[in-house]
Amino acid sequence: MARPHAEQHRAGSGNALRAAVLGANDGLVSDLSLVMGVAGASLGSTQILITGLAGLVAGAFSMAMGEWISVTSARELYARELRIEGRELRDMPEAEHAELAEIYRRKGLDAELADRVATALSASPETALDTHAREELGIDPDELGGSALQAAVASFGLFCIGAIPPVAPFAFLDGDTAVAVSLALSCVALFGIGAAITRLTGRSPWYSGARQLAFGVGAAVVSYAIGVLIGSIV
Ligand SMILES: [Zn+2]
Repeated sequence: MARPHAEQHRAGSGNALRAAVLGANDGLVSDLSLVMGVAGASLGSTQILITGLAGLVAGAFSMAMGEWISVTSARELYARELRIEGRELRDMPEAEHAELAEIYRRKGLDAELADRVATALSASPETALDTHAREELGIDPDELGGSALQAAVASFGLFCIGAIPPVAPFAFLDGDTAVAVSLALSCVALFGIGAAITRLTGRSPWYSGARQLAFGVGAAVVSYAIGVLIGSIV
């Protein structure tokens, strides 16, 4: 028996999960690398904690602003494209109709059917604009309403959450113990993020978790080595 279509596709809820994973991963990997870099240069726990917290705040602001610009500019770009398309539909409906019919012919419909579909989908200005937006511009007009502020606040918060595992141990522990606990907590978080994304991709959580762990630890090891090098020079 076929399962309901909606159960097999998770793309709808996928965007929020994708954004959450990306934000948390950014906070985790960047602050883990930062903390390991200064740990490699033999800074004390208090200095590492301050560095980690400063990195957390700086990264969270940068992420929030990047997200805000990305959502805002995408929406402004799409709105402009839709305005132009709307004007073209008003000023040269015949040419736009022919354009739409051509798109359906390229998809394999015969000329007569393509013409009928184009006519039907041009019945009202709203439907016509919606159809041209999707078929011609590749824009989903329903996706333009995303809030830039909401995206900015969410990515700020997620970056902070991601940065907690590598930074928090330095508030309570000292020396090598703090570094070891920071690394261990970060490994768990890296694996968790890798496994979480498989809810979208449908891949094995073990494979994805291990891959994420390898990349994150790789970044930390390189940062630590650079920290050691810089510490010995400065
Ligand atoms: Zn068009």
